[in-house]
Amino acid sequence: MTTPLLSDSEGPADALPVCLTSPTVAILGSGDFARSLALRLVASGVRVVVGSRCVNRIPSGLFPDAVELRNQEGAVSQAVCLVFMALFPEHYCSLLGLQSALAGKVLVDVSNAAEMNIHGLSNAERLAELFPNSLVVKGFNTVSTWELQTGAHDGSRQVLICSNSTEGKKKVVQLARQMGFHPVDMGGLSAAREIEVAPLRLLPSWSGPVVVTFLLFLFFYGYGVLLGILLPFLAQGHNAFYRLALDLVNESLPAVALVTLALVYFPGLFAAWLQLWSGTKYRRFPSWLDNWLQRRKQLGLLSFLGAALHGVYSLCLPLRRISLHRIVNTIFIGLVCDLKCLTTLGVWRSELYLSCGVLGLGVLSLLAVTSLPSVGNTLNWREFTFVQSGLGYIALTLSIMHTLFFGWDFAFHIEAYPFYMPPSYLLAVVLPCIVLVCRCFLLLPCIFTRLTRIRRGWESKRNCPHDGKRLM
Ligand code: NAP
Repeated sequence: MTTPLLSDSEGPADALPVCLTSPTVAILGSGDFARSLALRLVASGVRVVVGSRCVNRIPSGLFPDAVELRNQEGAVSQAVCLVFMALFPEHYCSLLGLQSALAGKVLVDVSNAAEMNIHGLSNAERLAELFPNSLVVKGFNTVSTWELQTGAHDGSRQVLICSNSTEGKKKVVQLARQMGFHPVDMGGLSAAREIEVAPLRLLPSWSGPVVVTFLLFLFFYGYGVLLGILLPFLAQGHNAFYRLALDLVNESLPAVALVTLALVYFPGLFAAWLQLWSGTKYRRFPSWLDNWLQRRKQLGLLSFLGAALHGVYSLCLPLRRISLHRIVNTIFIGLVCDLKCLTTLGVWRSELYLSCGVLGLGVLSLLAVTSLPSVGNTLNWREFTFVQSGLGYIALTLSIMHTLFFGWDFAFHIEAYPFYMPPSYLLAVVLPCIVLVCRCFLLLPCIFTRLTRIRRGWESKRNCPHDGKRLM
């Protein structure tokens, strides 16, 4: 939604229960939406009359006893002010005979768009054209029948509302509040197009981060296949295709999690350096950076998913047949050759590697939990920044250490570079290390002070050349 969300706080007069101003609300249509809406209205203390083309067809018990069932004309005549159009927009024309009865009344259009790319007028605008003497308000279409029935304590509580009539909008806002929803004023009726397609959108803010994470996974998985399976098979005939199912997935997941976590903090650093370079915070960031900054939460959650899956996969590793085979082999070779392969350094390495991994995952879980609106809303801005930024960098540092302890001194051995290609974990730490180094630079007093001044509104002379003249 690009339209600014207006505050839903109104004066005390608006908080009056609807029944005082509009005792009876009519619903035209007796389908799923009409039924759920009637249930919720009755539960909120509103008198409801349902208008159907054929009342006799409505099974008994479908609506609560408190709901009066009438024909369409009867229902409209009972409604003092509000009439919900709980039917599909294709059928609006069939109500043209009720034009005079509906004149002066508020018609609430609850319909959704049939497809994402709508051309021309929205359903609500078409309804306004058909009934020029009524006040058309768009609303409640973003609320599902399930949300209407589950009550005020579950499901989404936002109701997006728009209309060209302030009076009509005010009445619908009051009713929405009485039903336990949060009405959000989206402006004039032209906003209806955006509201009508809102329920058709599939996770709009997730598509970019999911695509990036998926591409990263494909890259690391493909790299692992090439380096660990295909090249050894072609060069030495060594068959390790069984690694495709578990081993390689488990190798790729931490790399993806680490790079994705770095991508959470990279745009913030980029923005800071951009502000330092331009000497002002009043220059707009390029739109791609703006979008990236807005997707940090999703990237963080996907990083957590990757790390959590890596944890589960790692716990499953000893259950594999190949692990059992290797353990038996190691014991046998140890017995036969009397190998003393357990070095203190090796023990330290594995202890630190595992500990950093577990701690990193723990901190990352904390970040994921605080990014949930219900938890995040209980934190003030400072607490939220401390968790998301402070603890976030700690999670990133722990994850890098986990990877480096895993690599330990192997990274400096020639065997770590078969076919002159670096192992994937080395590729995975490049970006996170760059992020940490850039962050450390930003903490240098000379840079930090300048950045703080810029963020408090100071601008370099280059950006406000008339400053001196104004002072004179
Ligand atoms: P539905 O179950 O098919 O009900 C539509 C109702 O329209 C029928 O029961 C019928 O009631 C009435 N109607 C009036 N004139 C009609 C005509 N000429 N031809 C056919 N039916 C006529 O549909 P619904 O799910 O309740 O959806 C109704 C509206 O709510 C739609 O615009 C939809 O986009 C919107 N909506 C639905 C949901 C949802 O979760 N279902 C959520 C948000 C918005 P009578 O036979 O009694 O007249």
